[in-house]
Amino acid sequence: MTVPGIASPVLDALQNIVGARGVIADTSGMAGYLRDWSGDYRGTALAVLRPGTVTEVQALVRLCGSLGLGIIPQGGNTGLVAGAIDINAGSAVIVSLERLNAIRLVDAENFILQADAGCVLQTIKDASEQADCLFPLALGAQGSCRIGGNAATNAGGVNVLRYGMARDLILGLEVVLADGELWDGFCGLRKNNTGYDLKQLFIGAEGTLGIITGVEVKLFPKPARVETAYLGLASFEAAVALFGQARRDCSDLVSAFEIIGDECIELARLIDPETVAPVAAPVQVLIELSSSALVDLNAVLVGFLAGAMEKGLVSDAVLATSGAQAKGFWAIREG
Ligand SMILES: Cc1cc2nc3c(=O)[nH]c(=O)nc-3n(C[C@H](O)[C@H](O)[C@H](O)COP(=O)(O)OP(=O)(O)OC[C@H]3O[C@@H](n4cnc5c(N)ncnc54)[C@H](O)[C@@H]3O)c2cc1C
Repeated sequence: MTVPGIASPVLDALQNIVGARGVIADTSGMAGYLRDWSGDYRGTALAVLRPGTVTEVQALVRLCGSLGLGIIPQGGNTGLVAGAIDINAGSAVIVSLERLNAIRLVDAENFILQADAGCVLQTIKDASEQADCLFPLALGAQGSCRIGGNAATNAGGVNVLRYGMARDLILGLEVVLADGELWDGFCGLRKNNTGYDLKQLFIGAEGTLGIITGVEVKLFPKPARVETAYLGLASFEAAVALFGQARRDCSDLVSAFEIIGDECIELARLIDPETVAPVAAPVQVLIELSSSALVDLNAVLVGFLAGAMEKGLVSDAVLATSGAQAKGFWAIREG
């Protein structure tokens, strides 16, 4: 069943660009694209369009522009704030980037990766790892969200302290503008002071200025050592003081520092009743350090914690002795 409101000549024109499998206009086929991840929001669309090439995105933008149709770009639809669906029932189509999902280049010498905007974040992380590199953007939705969506929302995640937000991790963008022109902002250069940094306009713009079709990101050396600890503290004030101490003692080795109030554990239990905090304390901190193999990371962590306990900032600490235990700590945070 097609949705009332989309005339069949328009459907034909859209199909001429992206082919029959590139247009979804029936209610059941569109349902998954019109519901946000939380299930809190539902939207409408005249159709869901799934271009398979950048040229198709350009042609769709030109056609929709000429017909006066609004366009909502959609990545993994994990944004949680209904940005990728039309909850106002306007005359809009959704342009899903899911078929534009290739890794274009991994350059481990230059620590650069280029990918289509519809590439799932986890796929980018896996490809980086295979090249002995790290793409540090990490969030609970990484198995579903797409790099174009990460750029469009300026995603943060758990490694912002050390590596910054998506804005800091993106070297270049490729964007289809409102008139269908392609803006190619890939440059591969870190040291680049040529004029305006136009890509920054598109980062965090949530698709209002164009459809991102390609993303060039910075890679980093893959840490050979990772130390994770779960800490118990008396108060949020102590956690803030501990954070300052961690920055001073461990410097840039701190890759994550998550403050978890006891009430968060109660909430996490609603999702997984088996959730048990490794320490019993009103405020908890999950800290992660990471480094190359040349750093005695365990000694840094133990030294830092000894000082923090002496100052009374930390009352209890569990150091992960295996990757599995560290993963268990992170599962609590994600919950
Ligand atoms: C379990 C969970 C944990 C999360 N944790 C975090 C977190 O720690 N930090 C954080 O920042 N976010 C987090 N999020 C939110 C979400 O994952 C991010 O905002 C993510 O970057 C969205 O990517 P997406 O591909 O799903 O984008 P979508 O939800 O599809 O779109 C988000 C916005 O970007 C626009 N957009 C999408 N793709 C493009 C494109 N190619 N070109 C132009 N505009 C586009 C859309 O129109 C929309 O406005 C979490 C979400 C979940 C479900």
